[in-house]
Amino acid sequence: MILKHPQFKEVLKPVTEMVSETVFGCDCCKKEIHRNRDELTMLEVSFYYKKNNKQKHYCSWICLFKHLAKINLNNIEFISLPYVVPSSQSSIDGLTIKSFKKLAKQLAKINK
Ligand SMILES: [Zn+2]
Repeated sequence: MILKHPQFKEVLKPVTEMVSETVFGCDCCKKEIHRNRDELTMLEVSFYYKKNNKQKHYCSWICLFKHLAKINLNNIEFISLPYVVPSSQSSIDGLTIKSFKKLAKQLAKINK
């Protein structure tokens, strides 16, 4: 037995629709990063401070390391670096394990 049926009224609710996606740029060289859902197109790094955290985006490992060399790291609790991926996951040479290893070799030479 139904004692009372639900009642409805017409309402006008604001509806938001995305009309364009977020456009990312490299936090080092400022170049626009063109996203592609099928592959890795940028390096996303989290910087954790005592009271907050910041997300930074880089077009390559070179830009990431250049930026790390420039910024003040004193107030940072820790940094979450992205995975180092093989070329099968990114067609962008600067993002792959190959370019990461190239940088590692250069750093090893500097620190001899
Ligand atoms: Zn860059």
